Amino acid sequence: MQTIILNGKKLAEKLHQNIKIKALELQKKTGKKPTLAVCLIGEDPASQIYVNKKQQTAEELNINSIIERLPSNSSIEEVIKLVKNWNDNPGINGILVQLPLPNNLNSDLVINEISPIKDVDGLHPENLGLLCLGTPQMIPCTPFGIYSIFKEYNLEISGKRALVIGRSRLVGKPIAQILTNESATVTIAHSKTSKEELDYLLKTSDIVVAAIGVPHFINGEQLKENSIIIDVGINRIDIEGKNKLVGDIDYESCLNKVQAITPVPGGVGPLTVAHLMINTLKAFEIQNQMYNN
Ligand code: NAP
Repeated sequence: MQTIILNGKKLAEKLHQNIKIKALELQKKTGKKPTLAVCLIGEDPASQIYVNKKQQTAEELNINSIIERLPSNSSIEEVIKLVKNWNDNPGINGILVQLPLPNNLNSDLVINEISPIKDVDGLHPENLGLLCLGTPQMIPCTPFGIYSIFKEYNLEISGKRALVIGRSRLVGKPIAQILTNESATVTIAHSKTSKEELDYLLKTSDIVVAAIGVPHFINGEQLKENSIIIDVGINRIDIEGKNKLVGDIDYESCLNKVQAITPVPGGVGPLTVAHLMINTLKAFEIQNQMYNN
């Protein structure tokens, strides 16, 4: 069986073209440029890379981008004050606080302060609640990106047995909810799931979404033939003296065994950024009374 490689990079490029045109149209109609504000706290190297990538992409797509860098010893009051200022600023349409935060800051307290209609990461309880009800407003970017892969490649979700490994607020829980809304039968596994149980679930699931953060945690032998595999993991490991990016799935061992798989890099990652931009334009439209489903 020839495995389909689900090319997220190519899909993201296609989405970018539409976003770029739409952002310009919105600017022409309103005289205002859609604006994304990102708060980066501390010096985490991966976060610096992600934030730079978001800024670069926004600017390429006719979206204004503001980055506020705060020191790692910032207090929760300082961070919340910034978020509240951005909530009240009509010139800012999307607010994103880059996660993870330094250990001294509780990310829930910060996310809860973001105005739900500016919450382009889709992590505010109101947005997660609406997703849960099947009437989403802002959908978290990575799960939204994963959903776009299913749509682009016409991959059936309804009636399928789906396994999501990982239960984070950022990825596992919202993608499990989206798959449920799309009528899959969903199981969520996590670190307390027994090895026997996980092995059984892997062998019997039509769709597997791995959002764990453990390099090559799963290999092709463990998977059901013909299944659809979405690898969310981003892990850096040393291979023959070279620093490489790998997923949670051992990609090579899945080829010619599964129906379709996302590579790492070039799978889910680029779609996360694209959907951040899509959410920013949606936030702009909502705030300018221009949004209709
Ligand atoms: P996270 O918050 O650390 O959550 C990891 C989840 O994996 C937890 O629910 C944890 O279970 C579960 N887990 C850990 N070890 C496990 C094991 N041995 N067996 C089964 N489950 C296990 O991570 P995250 O934010 O969801 O991110 C997951 C991965 O995706 C990371 O590699 C991250 O870098 C990547 N990521 C990629 C993108 C992208 O755009 N491609 C976006 C976001 C994240 P417990 O809940 O029991 O601890």
